Amino acid sequence: MTKLRAIVTGGAGFLGSHLCDAVLAEGHSVVAVDNLLTGNATNLEHLRHEPRFELRRVDICEPFDCGKVDYVFHLASPASPVDYTIHGIPTLRVGSVGTFNALEVARKYGAKFFLSSTSECYGDPEEHPQKESYWGHVNPIGPRSVYDEAKRFSEAATVAYRRYHKLETRIVRIFNTYGPRMQINDGRVVPNFMKQALRGEELTVYGDGKQTRSFCYVADEIDGLLRLAWSQEPGPVNIGNPSEFTILECAQKVLQVTGSKSQIKFLPLPPDDPKQRRPDISKARSILGWEPKVDLETGLKFSLDYFRQAVKELAAANSRGAR
Ligand code: NAD
Ligand code: UDP
Repeated sequence: MTKLRAIVTGGAGFLGSHLCDAVLAEGHSVVAVDNLLTGNATNLEHLRHEPRFELRRVDICEPFDCGKVDYVFHLASPASPVDYTIHGIPTLRVGSVGTFNALEVARKYGAKFFLSSTSECYGDPEEHPQKESYWGHVNPIGPRSVYDEAKRFSEAATVAYRRYHKLETRIVRIFNTYGPRMQINDGRVVPNFMKQALRGEELTVYGDGKQTRSFCYVADEIDGLLRLAWSQEPGPVNIGNPSEFTILECAQKVLQVTGSKSQIKFLPLPPDDPKQRRPDISKARSILGWEPKVDLETGLKFSLDYFRQAVKELAAANSRGAR
């Protein structure tokens, strides 16, 4: 394959940094652009001496230009419910103005454009499992709307550039993904439960814990993203693991993998929290030949060292703060 120069917006984030690694591993060059709102430059520390890589600290809500590129991977956006609740307006802005700016970069250089969209486009779904053809059930004025509607807008903008400007585009709808480099305090269920279990604190299950999610290990997710990127398929394509768990089952898995004796405590369910979520991945299977390989227990085991280290670093940072 010809060697490409790619931009990864949100490259210092959890998925963005893994995507940078995967694109570099195929021999291409990468410019990560990130304003470090919810990401962390330490996710890219190991690439400090890589000549085919650079990190630029850029807020993509302002027009940006990193020179000629062949591919724009657009991942920049807060992604955890806690993060996008704190950063509501920046989330709406990066999904709208930021997406336009990223699309304009692709248009200027005739580059391909890849949008990381989300299962949140389906909202609190009334169709189960969710196929790409389902239009969703989103509350446009609820607390999650800053994220859900920004992503739905991003999809609309992406297909409009395809339709009107003949841009080569791809849209992936990512379902809950976990693994090393998730921020320990980002409030998502896997980092929360891992942190609580490793510290011997109670695991906080919201609601009755019967709501479901389907968790994909990061290596599987990135494999699916790249297969889509290099394919001719515009999408949207669901990429996620179809094994569905209640949140209580997820808590039990974390306790089992960590060997923790923590108890479970129940807290109120946040408003509009989707009751069920599972991807139908027939499209990814048939078009991309993709399906996940890592089950939840194995993926949690693969992630354990990272979360142990993150918990240690958090404790050290907290004790420095207390002094
Ligand atoms: P993350 O918060 O770790 O990464 C997002 C990155 O975007 C961060 O590094 C952040 O600093 C950066 N960013 C935010 N606003 C920016 C701006 N204005 N300019 C430049 N950079 C900006 O989250 P993640 O889990 O890695 O998610 C990455 C993408 O994948 C997001 O688009 C998210 O919607 C999508 N996604 C993720 C999941 C998941 O389970 N991880 C699920 C569905 C969709
Ligand atoms: N959740 C939970 N305890 C936590 C964090 C999350 O019970 O400490 C639940 C949350 O209410 C949701 C599910 O776990 O039902 C997944 O939450 P997450 O924030 O990871 O992602 P979401 O899929 O909601 O975007």
